[in-house]
Amino acid sequence: MGIASVVQPRVLAEEYDLAIIGAGPVGLALAIETARLGLTTLVLDRRPPLATDAQVRPQLLVARAGDLAHLARLGVDLEDPRVVSRLHSRCEGDLASGRTVRGEIVGAAAGQVPALPGDLWALASQPPLALVPIGRLQQALLARALVHGATVAYGCEVTRLRRHARSVSLQCADGTTARAAMAVIATGAARPLIATILRDATPIEGVQRRLIGALFATGAKRGQWIRVELPVRGFDEPVRCTVLQTPEESGAGTALLVDPRIAGTPSLERLHQGFATAAQAHGLAGAPCIVPPMVFTTAATTLPHRFIGGDGRAPIVIAGDAAQTGHVFSGQTCFINVALALGLADQLREARGAIVDRVVNAPELLHALQRYDAQSAIGASILARASHRHTTGHRAGAWALAGVARA
Ligand SMILES: Cc1cc2nc3c(=O)[nH]c(=O)nc-3n(C[C@H](O)[C@H](O)[C@H](O)COP(=O)(O)OP(=O)(O)OC[C@H]3O[C@@H](n4cnc5c(N)ncnc54)[C@H](O)[C@@H]3O)c2cc1C
Repeated sequence: MGIASVVQPRVLAEEYDLAIIGAGPVGLALAIETARLGLTTLVLDRRPPLATDAQVRPQLLVARAGDLAHLARLGVDLEDPRVVSRLHSRCEGDLASGRTVRGEIVGAAAGQVPALPGDLWALASQPPLALVPIGRLQQALLARALVHGATVAYGCEVTRLRRHARSVSLQCADGTTARAAMAVIATGAARPLIATILRDATPIEGVQRRLIGALFATGAKRGQWIRVELPVRGFDEPVRCTVLQTPEESGAGTALLVDPRIAGTPSLERLHQGFATAAQAHGLAGAPCIVPPMVFTTAATTLPHRFIGGDGRAPIVIAGDAAQTGHVFSGQTCFINVALALGLADQLREARGAIVDRVVNAPELLHALQRYDAQSAIGASILARASHRHTTGHRAGAWALAGVARA
C-alpha cells in the first residue's frame, strides 16, 4: 500500500479587507488606491512574478491626456520614457484610395501633468497622446502597490471563491487559501470564476473578430501612430492595420495590429498572410520581434451585473476586462477600465468603515457598489460604441480617416 502524502496548502494567514484576483493594470491600479485608503489589500495572480515572466504581451496601450492624469494620480512617473512614450504625429490613411490625414499630436507638453477628465465621455473623446507598454506599466503599478503596503502573490491561480456571512474565501490551484471582507475579480478576458458566483454571468457580446498582432524591436525617430487600409492580393476587403511606434530611446518597439477582415473565422495561414503584407508595407518585414505574431480574439463585451452583494453575505465585484471590453482597435479598453477602477476606489472610500468592520449589508457599501455598477455600464456603452465604429460602422476607405479625432 502506498503512503498517503498530504501537501500542506500555503495559507495567506492574515484576513484581508480586500482580495483582488488578477494583477493586470486594473487589479494593480485598484490595489494602489485601496491600500492608500488603509484597506489591507491582497492581489493574487496566476502568472509568474512580472520580473521573471518571459511571456511579454504585445500591447502598446494608447493613452489620452486624461489617462496620463490617472497614471499620475497612481504615482506613475510620466517623464519616464520607458513607461510613457509621447506620440509626435498621427497619420491615418487609406492606401487603396490615397486619402490620408496627417497631424501633429497636440496635448500637454512633457513636464506638465494633464488635467483630470470631467467624466468618462470627456476622457473617451480625447485624442491619443502617448503609448504605454503594458508590461512596463504593470511593473510601475506593482512598485506603487508595494510602496503603499499591498501584498501581491504570483503563481496563485484562484479556482474557487465562496461568499460567507463576514468574508469571502479564496482557494488557489496549488492549495493556497486566503480570506477577505470583499473580493474583486479582475482576471481580464478569463471569466470562468465569474460563472461560479453570478447566475447571470453570460457576457453580452458584440461582433467577434480574430486579429493578429506582434511587437517589433525597432522604434522610430519619434513616436507615431499610423492607421491604414491595405489592399492584399486574394483578399476581398482591404486589410486594416494599426502601427504604434515608440521613439527609439524608449526601447519599447513597434506594435503592429492587423485585421484581415475575412468573413467567418480566418485561418491561421490567412491571418499570417495579411500580417506579412502589412509588415512589408511598413518596412517591418524581417525586423526582430519582442513578441512574435500572435492571434487573438477581440470583441466588445459587457456583463449584465458587476457585483453580487446586499444579501447578507460578503460582496464580490467584477472589474476591468472581466467586466467589459472593447474591440482592440478602439484602443481604449484598458484605460477606460482603469478610470472605472479609480471610480470604484473613490466609492469604497465612503464605505471603508463598513468593509473594515465586516458589515456586509451596510447601506453605504451597497450604494458604493451600485454607483460603480452604473459607471461601469456607461464605460461599457462607450467601448461598445467605439468598437462598433471600428468594426462595422465604416465603409472601406473611410475607416482609417474616421478612426480617431483629427489633430
Ligand atoms: C493586442 C492588444 C492590444 C491592445 N491595445 C490596447 C490599447 O491600445 N489601449 C487600451 O486601452 N487597451 C488595449 N488593449 C486591451 C488591454 O490589454 C486590456 O484592456 C487590459 O490588459 C485589461 O486589464 P485587466 O487588468 O482588466 O486584465 P489583464 O491585463 O488581462 O490582467 C488580468 C490578470 O488576471 C490574471 N488571472 C486570470 N485568471 C486568474 C485566476 N483565476 N487567478 C489568478 N489570476 C488570474 C492574469 O494572469 C492576468 O495577469 C489591447 C489588447 C490587446 C490584446
